[in-house]
Amino acid sequence: MNELARFIKGKGIRLHREDGEVFIDAESGTFNLSLGHSHPSVVDAAKRQIEELLHLSAKDSQPYVDELLTELLSMLPEGSTINDGWFRDLTGSSAVECAIKTAQKFTDRNTIVSVFLSHHGQSSLTTALSGNTFRRRSMSCTRSADSLVVPGPYCYRCHFKAKYPSCGLLCVEKISDYIEHGSNDDIAAMIVEPVLGNGGNILPPPGYFEAVRRLCDEHGMLLIADEAQTGVGRLGYGTGSEALGIQPNIITLAKGISGIGIPTAAVLMEKRLKVLEPHEHSHTSGSHLLGIAASMATLKIINRPEFLQEVRRKGKLLQEKLEALKERHNCIGDVRGLGLMFGLEIVDNYGAQDIRRSQAIISAAFNQERLILRDSRSGYGSVIKIRPALIVTDEEIEEIVHKLERAIVTTHGYG
Ligand code: PMP
Repeated sequence: MNELARFIKGKGIRLHREDGEVFIDAESGTFNLSLGHSHPSVVDAAKRQIEELLHLSAKDSQPYVDELLTELLSMLPEGSTINDGWFRDLTGSSAVECAIKTAQKFTDRNTIVSVFLSHHGQSSLTTALSGNTFRRRSMSCTRSADSLVVPGPYCYRCHFKAKYPSCGLLCVEKISDYIEHGSNDDIAAMIVEPVLGNGGNILPPPGYFEAVRRLCDEHGMLLIADEAQTGVGRLGYGTGSEALGIQPNIITLAKGISGIGIPTAAVLMEKRLKVLEPHEHSHTSGSHLLGIAASMATLKIINRPEFLQEVRRKGKLLQEKLEALKERHNCIGDVRGLGLMFGLEIVDNYGAQDIRRSQAIISAAFNQERLILRDSRSGYGSVIKIRPALIVTDEEIEEIVHKLERAIVTTHGYG
């Protein structure tokens, strides 16, 4: 059991507890603190906004929203067809709902395709359409969209027991069969995460997203990139779509957009798709000035080319260190990720998911090493995530991996 003493202060990647203990937060809070705890320039911008003006109705916030959208759109690569946005959401779930309503209204179709192990939120609709079924086993989630959940790009444990690249991306090819035989063939959109975050930090293989784009075009469906986790610099580029060559029609952003954890979300889209009326998707605090101020300050930092170059360099360093760790410890079956978003799949001697061991490692890291780690892999928890804030230093990466290794060694014999 982890101790329950309170955390009272956060600075960068460190969290201070009331009993004087200092922890390293290798998870960036709930993966939402892209610039770490209490980044000073974002805190200043937020403070100024609170003092000057905290709330306006969505209509009156529009000049602020326009400024933020310009900054967000400047983060996209040349050639992106996305050139507008909707900014009336505070959470990733609600941003995905906005994207779905948009796709349904634009296409006049109902169904949304998602992949096994995907996570698109916890509202009733997004729980219903996500591929992480364990979250909806105890309730009947409302499906105002029909959802078609299809096998995803989990190469380490391929759902078709195939091997990349000789599989020829069977997981994309087969989606057409599911559409033909398992849906009403009224697909409005396919929704993808550039890296399946909650599902186990699954990085799709090269060519996957190009094939998905072709599939969407063939079936006349839109492509939504849910970038709650991968947006705003996490993979070393403005968006995960840029990092992985995805050509989406809609991108949803949440979590890291405000840098220090002020709830904010955005939906970027092609202008032609901006079909919703304000009364069709708006929330009381949706265009919140505080979130806008914090996001503007965050983007000014993240949009500096040297900042993203550094994220890519530090990501490679982290990857090298984790790969080296895998060489030394058989319990690490797979190291996967990109930028500063990595996952380690923990396995037993037979290669099966070893949840007991992964949980023991996470506990040992917390209790002995003062290192905060979290698990994923859709409710099973066999994947340990390493996702420090983008401002992490080389020395801190070294420290995280060193502490992680000590936690692994401590748990020998737990499997
Ligand atoms: N999409 C993805 C990819 C996510 O990881 C999450 C949250 N983990 C969401 C949507 C939902 O975001 P929120 O918790 O802000 O509603």
